[in-house]
Amino acid sequence: MQSYDVDVAIIGAGIAGIAAAYYLATEHKRTRLLILDMGQPMALTSAASGENYRNWWPHPTMTALTDTSISLMEDIARRTNNRFHMTRRGYVLATRRPRPEDLIRQLDASYGTAPAGTIRIHESANARYEPPVSADWEAAPGGVDVLLDRELIRRHFPYFDPDIATILHVRRAGDISGQQLGQYMLEEIRAAGGRFRQARVTAIRSDGRFTLETEANGAREIVRADVIINAAGPFAAHVSALHGESLPIINVLQQKIAFPDQQGAISRQMPFSIDLDGQSIEWTPEEREALATDPNLARFLEPMPGNIHCRPDGGERGTWIKLGWAYNSTPSAPMLEPPLDPNFPEIVLRGASRLHPRLKPYIAAMPRERIHYGGYYPMTGENWPLIGPAKTPGVFLITALSGYGTMAACAAGDMCARWVAGAAPSTLARQLSFERYEDEGLMAGAAGTAHRGHL
Ligand SMILES: Cc1cc2nc3c(=O)[nH]c(=O)nc-3n(C[C@H](O)[C@H](O)[C@H](O)COP(=O)(O)OP(=O)(O)OC[C@H]3O[C@@H](n4cnc5c(N)ncnc54)[C@H](O)[C@@H]3O)c2cc1C
Repeated sequence: MQSYDVDVAIIGAGIAGIAAAYYLATEHKRTRLLILDMGQPMALTSAASGENYRNWWPHPTMTALTDTSISLMEDIARRTNNRFHMTRRGYVLATRRPRPEDLIRQLDASYGTAPAGTIRIHESANARYEPPVSADWEAAPGGVDVLLDRELIRRHFPYFDPDIATILHVRRAGDISGQQLGQYMLEEIRAAGGRFRQARVTAIRSDGRFTLETEANGAREIVRADVIINAAGPFAAHVSALHGESLPIINVLQQKIAFPDQQGAISRQMPFSIDLDGQSIEWTPEEREALATDPNLARFLEPMPGNIHCRPDGGERGTWIKLGWAYNSTPSAPMLEPPLDPNFPEIVLRGASRLHPRLKPYIAAMPRERIHYGGYYPMTGENWPLIGPAKTPGVFLITALSGYGTMAACAAGDMCARWVAGAAPSTLARQLSFERYEDEGLMAGAAGTAHRGHL
């Protein structure tokens, strides 16, 4: 029987496990590492990511996590001549509400400690607002622009629903190739001496060290390790159960579609845009009647939540667009092949065409060449990740990365590696580990913003 003996066994070769291994190998010189995955690296949730990033969050802890992560991504971009295609046109959050004081207050809460000038309010048509003409992350402004004048909005975003009254343009935001980032990190891990093995972990025992039983191509193998990192994404709770521990995590399935925009409905310079407003989808009387008779479809007659999003994919010379709408909130047991709802493409297209009226013609003629995919958001109740020691000594977690694991991976990986190596902890270490549940004040604040951080 094949066996391995390592210092650290990392279960999961998604972006979380790979990032933890990368920082262990490169920053802490811990190179007796073995990453185990039942599939190929970056092939489960990490392959479903929209690959967007932002530093705008309703709670300062999440703002700090993503800000740190973006800085670490920038370090890698500089070192690699931007191998993973980081762009920065920002996130545009659009609402029909004039001067939404609650959102402006939320910006103050998120960026409260930032220098003056971080939040720029534009109240007239002639305001000096810098539009997102370039995708170059190094040239983009920081902070956030708040556009409160309809004429100003119309001039810069002529393609949006004319009822849009306010735009929040978060500037430290854009997209990356998460696959390229993961690939780069894997190469560095291998160069440092770390290894990857395609194998499913089926049992974990402890006798001071850990013994992991694994299955690779039908054969049983053994891995001996001092430390385990649980980076099993939606299966993190399954892995924890193997050593007798439970995790406070639920999984919620979310979906996306992508298709070539043959009609040029979406500007190739449009930033990632989010329609913040809830809506009732437009149906004809005949369609309403038909939907009402089907218990699976009648829910689409009810008011739907906001946060539908759209972006051009593949840069200015590309033709594809991506649409997503995280309207599902029902937890489910994770599956390797998530059961996708065949109605989703039409629902998301109808929803998105409210902010982007030029998408409407696609509703009657759904693009045949389209990709419909999905994955799970593993979430804690407050929708913050769990990074740090598990209850079982010697086991560390990097999980519950919900819908933000691509953008948070570098900071989460760095944080997890510091815990494992016993190095100076990151400033967010306590807030993002189990220790946070001992701080009632912190958790009360986190609970109040949980769902507004869910895109
Ligand atoms: C539809 C969708 C859109 C998203 N969009 C964005 C976005 O725009 N921006 C962003 O930042 N994030 C986004 N996310 C979130 C992001 O994709 C995830 O947070 C991230 O990919 C999670 O990475 P992970 O490594 O934790 O999990 P995964 O990528 O799922 O990796 C876990 C790995 O563990 C392996 N594994 C599990 N159990 C075992 C076992 N017993 N033995 C061996 N291997 C095992 C699995 O095979 C898997 O490869 C999105 C997610 C979804 C679903």
